[in-house]
Amino acid sequence: MVENLAQPRATTDHLTGLDLDMNGDTLREECGVFGILGHEDAAALTALGLHALQHRGQEAAGIVSFDGVHFNSERHLGLVGDRFTDAATLARLPGNLAMGHVRYSTTGETVLRNVQPLFAELEVGGIAIAHNGNLTNGLALRRRLIAQGAIYQSTSDTEAVLHLIARSQRTGSAERFIDALGALEGAYAMVAMTRTKLIGARDPNGIRPLVLGELGGRPIFASETCALDIIGANFVRDVENGEVIVCEMQPDGEITIDSFKPFPPRRERVCLFEYVYFARPDSVVAGRSVYGARKNMGINLAGEAPVEADVVVPVPDGGTPAALGYAQASGIPFEYGIIRNHYVGRTFIEPTQSIRALGVKLKHSANRTAIAGKRVVLVDDSIVRGTTSLKIVQMIRDAGAREVHFRVASPMIYHSDYYGIDTPDPEKLLANQYATIDEMCRYIGADSLQFLSIDGLYLAVGGEKRDAQAPQFTDHYFTGDYPTPLTDLKGRGKRDPKQVSMLREAV
Ligand code: AMP
Repeated sequence: MVENLAQPRATTDHLTGLDLDMNGDTLREECGVFGILGHEDAAALTALGLHALQHRGQEAAGIVSFDGVHFNSERHLGLVGDRFTDAATLARLPGNLAMGHVRYSTTGETVLRNVQPLFAELEVGGIAIAHNGNLTNGLALRRRLIAQGAIYQSTSDTEAVLHLIARSQRTGSAERFIDALGALEGAYAMVAMTRTKLIGARDPNGIRPLVLGELGGRPIFASETCALDIIGANFVRDVENGEVIVCEMQPDGEITIDSFKPFPPRRERVCLFEYVYFARPDSVVAGRSVYGARKNMGINLAGEAPVEADVVVPVPDGGTPAALGYAQASGIPFEYGIIRNHYVGRTFIEPTQSIRALGVKLKHSANRTAIAGKRVVLVDDSIVRGTTSLKIVQMIRDAGAREVHFRVASPMIYHSDYYGIDTPDPEKLLANQYATIDEMCRYIGADSLQFLSIDGLYLAVGGEKRDAQAPQFTDHYFTGDYPTPLTDLKGRGKRDPKQVSMLREAV
């Protein structure tokens, strides 16, 4: 059995040796995945798909293709549009089977060896995998696999899947992949490829999204529907929670598509934050328009938290659909009171708090004409650390606003995410730093501050209130209700967030 990760031909990087701080943070990743089987322009279409998914991760991107003989790989730090559009790069990715990944690691290093797709040359042949999400037992698996002799070559939790495939007793590559999934806890939307197969898989809760599309009868997997739209592909259906779809090119050129459900059935629980912030507004996630959901959040927010004001101003871009909903429901005119500079990445991209704060100033500027002398309702999608709200309220006041009322289109965030959304440790969350909303309001300097209720959010996204017995969505950042065990957290002696939330309720 070949256990070490190998490098496909014509790579622009090489994997370095193991450099693992076992006591350090595991990687948490915000990512997008894409794959296509049977198309002569597979790599170019993958680059376009990844470009549409760029909002899911801006630090690095990678594409692997198979040309009938060799696997080929290009992995680069930076944006897809900067690194994957020239003809020479695409020429190094021949073949009609390709898949790719955009990545934003929230902790850990941004180094090429962590950039996906990860690839291994195994007994059963070459296999590449790309993962959106985060394994909550990634460290436990790493310890176990290293004890069994595995040599890790990245600090990514995803690498466990390759080592598990290498150790599986099953025969075929797809069977081994499915076998490996059985050991995982946490969130994953995964795309994998072998010489003849393109595979898509979602974790049993379906926390991260993944869709099946087609272009001229050729199957595609993508994190979001916006990646199908960019290449004129059709949406076929969502990959279901706990489902593995195997697309295979047969020797006669036919493509077969088989669905497997290896896990006990359970209710799908898509991450609510996909609707609040993460997904692109033109995407349809689990059958629901993200734009429609965000607008509904604003409508419900106007009902729950009305205020007398002259203008509704979004914190762009995240707050824009909710602000439109708020304006329509309240009858208060919508104005672009803040202009966003699109040449600066998302606020969270910069790794340190000081640069993050600087990033907010670089990114937004007040449109004085729309707000001077006015009573302003500022609408944003979420408050995490409070960095953005603090700066923006001050900026709006400096531009001459008479009153500033902050409205947030999601509930207060008390708990960290361990499933692939970047959130800081609980003590850094604004909601945990102040005992009351009034104190938070004073901190950000607004005249009033209100958040959408959890039921208001559920109604906006799914049309029903939260079912406390069997919640329709993954919502732990608001409620502390984590849908999987948090094995690594316990292993590192951290307090179980469930205990933290019980404490809060007791107080
Ligand atoms: P903060 O400034 O820490 O309170 O974060 C809230 C702001 O960051 C809002 O304007 C959101 O649109 C945006 N935001 C929320 N969640 C994330 C995330 N996971 N990554 C990047 N930006 C985010």
